[in-house]
Parts: sequence; C-alpha cells; structure tokens
Amino acid sequence: MSYRHLVSIRDLSEPDLHQLLDLSEWFMPQVEAGGFKMDTLRGTSCILLFYEASTRTRASFEVAGKMLGSDTINVGSKGSSTEKGETVKDTALTLNAMDHNCVVMRHETADAINIFAQYFERGLVNAGSGLGQHPTQALLDALTLRRAGLLEKGRRVAIVGDLRHSRVMRSNLQLWASLGMDTVLVAPPQLMPDGWEGLHPEHWADDTTGYGSVTWDTDIDRVLPDVDAVMMLRMQRERMDGGYLTNSDEYSKLYGLFGHRMKKLPPHAIIMHPGPVNRGVEISEEAFLDPRCRITEQVTWGVASRCALLCWSCGRLPVGFAVTA
Ligand code: ASP
Repeated sequence: MSYRHLVSIRDLSEPDLHQLLDLSEWFMPQVEAGGFKMDTLRGTSCILLFYEASTRTRASFEVAGKMLGSDTINVGSKGSSTEKGETVKDTALTLNAMDHNCVVMRHETADAINIFAQYFERGLVNAGSGLGQHPTQALLDALTLRRAGLLEKGRRVAIVGDLRHSRVMRSNLQLWASLGMDTVLVAPPQLMPDGWEGLHPEHWADDTTGYGSVTWDTDIDRVLPDVDAVMMLRMQRERMDGGYLTNSDEYSKLYGLFGHRMKKLPPHAIIMHPGPVNRGVEISEEAFLDPRCRITEQVTWGVASRCALLCWSCGRLPVGFAVTA
C-alpha cells in the first residue's frame, strides 16, 4: 500500500469505503476497551493542522495516532507561520520537506486543502474544509448506520437544519446516494444551499445507475415517520455571512427534535448529530437520552474510524487485519 489522500468523499471508491469500514469495525473492540497500543504507525509522524476550532475531530485523530504508535504533533493557525503570512502552498512544501507521513488538515476555506494536496506527497486527510467537505465525518456516520443495519440500498435518511453551511451534509449525501440510499434535506428555504440539486453525484460521477435520490422538504413532521435515520445539525453561526439567522425559539418549534416529534420517528430509526450539539435548540435532552440516539456512540466510533483512516492514508495495515478482495 502507498500513501493516499482523502480530500473529498469522491476520492473513495466503493471498495475503499468498505475496506475503511471493515478496518474501523476491526478497531472497534480495542477502542471500546480503551488504552490499546499498537505498532502499526510506529516511526511515523502525523501533523494535526487545524486552522479552525475542533474538539471531537482533533482529539479523536490525536488519540488514534497515539494508539497506533505515531508521533502526533498539533499545529494551529495561532502560533504558526500562517500568522506571519505563510501561504498554504508553502506550509505544504515545508511539511513535505520534513518528511512527515501524514497531515490531517482542517481549514475555514473549501479550497485550501486542494492547494495543500498539490504540494504534499504523503498521506493527507481532510478533517473539514470550509463549506466544502467533511469526509471523515461521513465515514464515521456510515459506520454508525452500518452498525444499526441501515447502510444499505433503499434506506432513507433525513438531514435537518442548517444545510446551507453544512459540509457534513455535502459529504454524507454523496456517500449515501452512491450506495443507493435516499436523502431528504429538511430546512427552511433560507437555510438551504443555493443550487442544492447540483450536489447529487449524478453531476460528476460517470455512471449513477442504482444511485439514491436527494429531495428537499420544509416540513420535518411530514418526513420523520418515513425515515430510517435522522441527522440533526446545529446552526453554524461562525460560517454565516449574515441574513440567515432565524430566531432560536422559532427554529426549535419548527425544526427541533422535541417530545411530540420523537413519537413520529419509527422505532427502528436512529438519531445522529455530528456535534457540537446545542441541547434545547436543534435537539431536546429527551431525544439525546432516547435509546434510538447514537450521538455518544458516534463520538466513540469516530476514534475507530480515525484509526482506520490514519492507517489507510499512511499505507499501513495492522497485523491481523485481513484484506478482503
Ligand atoms: N463538527 C461538524 C463540522 O466540523 C459540524 C459542525 O461544526 O456543526 O462541520
């Protein structure tokens, strides 16, 4: 295996996706038991290059790297040469010249990772790029759906809330559509991305036979009884450039996952959220504590999927993991 870049969900073929999910499952018991140490990435260094705030993503990559024996090094925009005007291209060339094995990068613009990818020759993982992509979140969400038996053709997932500013939605709908799953976008018009129809992979994939659909509905109450999973999103105020803010109380009333709506959700359906969660705004405490809720599991399983991603991007597989053709 050699070094790989994961910039967009489009970089993953279906076999790649299944291998990453299998590998994540393989790591799961060790992550759940806690405190494991492996030598898979011993002798490597991974840079966590985060230009934007993060708790879950950065901590899970750091813990994954350490569990796998890699030296993980945190670099943020504060305190780095970015403050002195260094460009993304020069940062990539600098880290390349130091022979780091992998860079996990988050940036507030969608393009920075594409520029970085042109100049960094080893493993690269996009940990969130502006309003563009968040492929590692999509991977852990796919894992969460797979563990609930819901990652299969014909299943229907709703994503509710601030879709305009959601890179999570952009990566997820592309992944789900490619697996033949249907996505329902649920939001008021002002929180829908312009040209949302163009997000469907039919606009760039060669052959979309068997792909699932993407539709839009403004009414969460109409959608909930007919889904296998619902993903709630927070208002991403830091990514808003004005004019989109709806009053929180009004928003909760119209779109929040609260008491009466929990009864509309089928018993087998699961509740997801990429975090950070604003309890009482997009989701109630009651929904958080419901047995259908997988939000805490998403965080734990995120560590397993980030173990898999670091191995994959560094081109090393753990001893004992059997590759299926
Ligand atoms: N954690 C996700 C992201 O980085 C979702 C969010 O910020 O609301 O995009």
